[in-house]
Amino acid sequence: MKMDATVALKWMSIFNDKIQTNKDYLSELDTPIGDGDHGGNMARGMTAVMEKLNAEKFENAADVFKVVAMQLLSKVGGASGPLYGSAFIGMTKSFQTSDSLADAVQAGLEMIEKRGKATVGEKTMVDIWASVLADLQQDQLTVARVQEYVQASADLKATKGRASYVGDRSIGHIDPGTCSSGYLFEALLEASK
Ligand code: ADP
Ligand code: MG
Ligand code: MG
Repeated sequence: MKMDATVALKWMSIFNDKIQTNKDYLSELDTPIGDGDHGGNMARGMTAVMEKLNAEKFENAADVFKVVAMQLLSKVGGASGPLYGSAFIGMTKSFQTSDSLADAVQAGLEMIEKRGKATVGEKTMVDIWASVLADLQQDQLTVARVQEYVQASADLKATKGRASYVGDRSIGHIDPGTCSSGYLFEALLEASK
């Protein structure tokens, strides 16, 4: 699969659909361990993303992701806007020099880590990005695995982000940012079919 502008636009459109459909669910996940705004944050950001993507013509995937990054950075408050925005900046830069999806996800993950200073196991979106990266490198990413990573976040105790404020009480709840990242990677699999 080559990540050209058409596949990139399809990926973002499917991701947007999943975010809008599951907006309330994402905010429900953010309620016991956060401030209940993750669905609203992501829905507002992706609406702004789609407005810009639908209004412009694109030559390549990097140019698509650059718009996604800028919209998420400027339109989404909270932790997730800067984190997703940074991830898409990393992916933009990667696709400017490499065709590899694994390289792009690696660059995205590195930007998330740089921005949020979380490492694997802290119950943040870093966990699922790292697991998906390993799967892409071994060409074994599936929807079932993505969903497994989302569920696995429930077992962890949050030590970064807002969910860390509730300490042990974060255990047993799915991490909202991991769930939205799960939609991102499910959308990727659907778009690249
Ligand atoms: P806020 O917590 O500011 O309300 P959101 O609710 O939109 O922002 O996003 C929360 C999500 O952001 C969490 O579920 C988690 O996955 C992710 N997150 C929070 N802090 C970090 C961090 N330091 N590194 C990576 N991801 C983080
Ligand atoms: Mg929140
Ligand atoms: Mg918030």
